[in-house]
Amino acid sequence: MRRTKIVATVGPASSDPDVLRSMIGAGLDVARIGLAHGTLDDHLAMYWRLRDAAEATGSDIGILIDLPGPKVRCARFADGGTALADGQAITVVAGTDASDSTRIEIDYESVASDVMVGDQLAIGDGNITLMVEGKSDAVVDARIIHGGLAQGRPGFQIPSERLRLSTPTAEDLEFVDAFVDVGVDMIAVSFVRSAHDMRGIRTQPAPAGPLLVAKIETRAAVENLDGIIETSDAVMVARGDLGLDFPIAELPHLQKHIIGQCVARSRPVITATQMLESMVHSTIPTRAEATDVANAVFDGTSAVMLSGETAIGDDPVNAIETMARITERADEEFDRDSWIQVIQRHVGDDHDAGSASVRTDALSLAACEIAEKIGAKAILCLTRTGFTAQSITRFRPEVQVLAFTPDSRTARQLRLSWGTTPTQNLEHPTSREVAEQAMTDLRERNELMSGDLVVVVSGQSLLTRSTDTLRVVTVP
Ligand code: PEP
Repeated sequence: MRRTKIVATVGPASSDPDVLRSMIGAGLDVARIGLAHGTLDDHLAMYWRLRDAAEATGSDIGILIDLPGPKVRCARFADGGTALADGQAITVVAGTDASDSTRIEIDYESVASDVMVGDQLAIGDGNITLMVEGKSDAVVDARIIHGGLAQGRPGFQIPSERLRLSTPTAEDLEFVDAFVDVGVDMIAVSFVRSAHDMRGIRTQPAPAGPLLVAKIETRAAVENLDGIIETSDAVMVARGDLGLDFPIAELPHLQKHIIGQCVARSRPVITATQMLESMVHSTIPTRAEATDVANAVFDGTSAVMLSGETAIGDDPVNAIETMARITERADEEFDRDSWIQVIQRHVGDDHDAGSASVRTDALSLAACEIAEKIGAKAILCLTRTGFTAQSITRFRPEVQVLAFTPDSRTARQLRLSWGTTPTQNLEHPTSREVAEQAMTDLRERNELMSGDLVVVVSGQSLLTRSTDTLRVVTVP
């Protein structure tokens, strides 16, 4: 049974309804629509194709939109690409007309006043790097350190602490409005630098509104991580841009640190970018990629993400099947015995013994331990917001966690949470009745048998963000 969730980006290679259905069948839990390219109408059409594919397969996947944010881009290079040679001098100016091998135009007005001599700049995914050697009022003089072929309208990376742009942009907010109207499940916010940026997305708290996912991809976001996690429902380790804003040798340690902080606060965390990159064209991943995916699972990630592999790759379904096999095997090897100490290290001692979160933690851990000791067949989490399920699964129980929620959006949002199988149930006045209905349904589907033991966990009112009730029940 796979416990780590799979987020897959959809794009030209996966816009066909047959392919989408096969991707869901292969193990896609959450589909990501990247909004950086294309029109709103195209993205909405993809959203509805995904909803149709989910309905056709009977698998209610989550849908995540990823806002463009204040991404700086180069003006277009000539068709076929432009070779930029090592050591060559080049100027960078504000503009949107065209870029060539001697002059790059970027859509950032104040470039010449904001960058400093000695700054390293990058094009695309960071393969092409430039060093600033001088500047005047409107022109930056740079030298190409590592050259390469610049194609299309690649991103242009300026160290984030120099940028005066802020998140969310006006364009981001237009996308948010349009997708909130259609009921999107999750929104990823790009280039977040502080908790204040997250508060700029004014949607209703989940599950009435979408789950807000903070992408950690700037130096400022790492510095303000605590506040960002506190104001977000989930986090993405956006390794593409993060690996440009920090020296690459820092990236593995940043990934561990960010995941650890999310686990400490029961926030789902997605590890993203270049996980199976070679599978854009290859039928198998490299050894290093397979190992990277498994290590993200061992770090405690809730979900792993595919980008180009499924958006523009040769075989999106194969990429998901491969990801599912690697994560399922890594889930089996996960070191549960040491995990509690890992959580304790991340949580630290600085907490108030009487607080709701300490109570929830104690009860969630007890539920996992009891389930294991008595050989329970499942932990049933009765949850309205998903909070109870998230607090249980951060302890990585071996026994299956079945979440029951009356809210269809919570069920879809829980597709991002590690090890949780969500089901929408009918409204009942008490958690006891919800549990009875759930057990009856599971017995009818032969997923539980009469006489099996289950551990039932809930927040007493089903409304508050605290978990306070634990019962051991024999399936009638
Ligand atoms: C990233 O930078 O790793 C990322 C996921 O963001 P995007 O793909 O939008 O650049």
